[in-house]
Amino acid sequence: MASAIRIDGKAKAAELSEKIEEETAALARDHGIKPGLAVVIIGEDPASQVYVRNKKRTAEACGFHSVQHSLPAEVSQQDVLDLVQSLNDDPAIHGILVQLPLPDHLDEQRITQSITPSKDVDGFHYINIGKLTAGDTADAFIPCTPAGCMLMIEDHLGTDLSGLSAVVIGRSNIVGKPMASLLLARNATVTITHSRTKDLPAVVRGADIVVAAVGRPNMVGGDWIKPGAVIIDVGINRVEVEVDGEKKAKLIGDVNFEEASEVARAITPVPGGVGPMTITMLMANTLRSAKLAAGLAD
Ligand code: NAD
Repeated sequence: MASAIRIDGKAKAAELSEKIEEETAALARDHGIKPGLAVVIIGEDPASQVYVRNKKRTAEACGFHSVQHSLPAEVSQQDVLDLVQSLNDDPAIHGILVQLPLPDHLDEQRITQSITPSKDVDGFHYINIGKLTAGDTADAFIPCTPAGCMLMIEDHLGTDLSGLSAVVIGRSNIVGKPMASLLLARNATVTITHSRTKDLPAVVRGADIVVAAVGRPNMVGGDWIKPGAVIIDVGINRVEVEVDGEKKAKLIGDVNFEEASEVARAITPVPGGVGPMTITMLMANTLRSAKLAAGLAD
């Protein structure tokens, strides 16, 4: 029988969103400021279109000033840089994000790094990465997915992870590496694993906290999990399943949820775990940026 707590990211995100809406209303009422989020999307990638639509809808629901710039796939690098510059200079915009991936002819690093660090609500600028890596988490914009994961871990284990061992599976700049920095800042003993790690199951078996961010369906089996571990499944994998003789698309994570639930103390489902938290953290970062710009940050 499954015994793990199912970590409800959707409910937690809704709770946080409510607070963000209240703070946004207070900011408008008391200071006449509306957080502004600009999203730049280039090309027609269907998944990116869905993500951007969700970000815009959520920003509007929070009461933000929300702007979307849709550029054709063949746009020049200079035109993108010029647009980012104009958003950097626009006082009504507090957060800028350029939706990834970009078409091949564009230089992703150059474009990401052209966003001014104070409006880099995705936390991809080297200044923000540097602050996070230096342990200056109070002063950095932290990438949204790991920031959301961390809040869910804290709900179950508190803010001091001293003595606990954490294994992060995946070393991307967007999830794995910043996740490791956050866990380290909370005093966990952190191991980053990746595609070249030897005997990954044995490494994961030693972990009190597992964050899986790979993109391989059901890769982490129940027999990889230490009894009582907290499992955060970042992976989003679209697989085909047969329901009543019909093939249907389904989203599943990197962790075998049923198996892991038998052993873990708490686990995030996919969907409904990390995903909803990611978008809410983007709103939290944008609100914080607006407050910082007005000298009101906590
Ligand atoms: P990525 O492709 O940039 O990185 C994947 C990492 O997994 C790499 O570091 C690689 O070394 C590692 N890896 C690959 N095969 C492995 C193996 N067999 N064993 C161990 N490690 C292995 O991906 P990413 O951007 O970090 O995203 C990872 C997953 O998380 C994807 O499924 C993505 O869709 C999902 N994701 C979800 C959210 C969300 O909001 N829920 C946000 C970002 C990413």
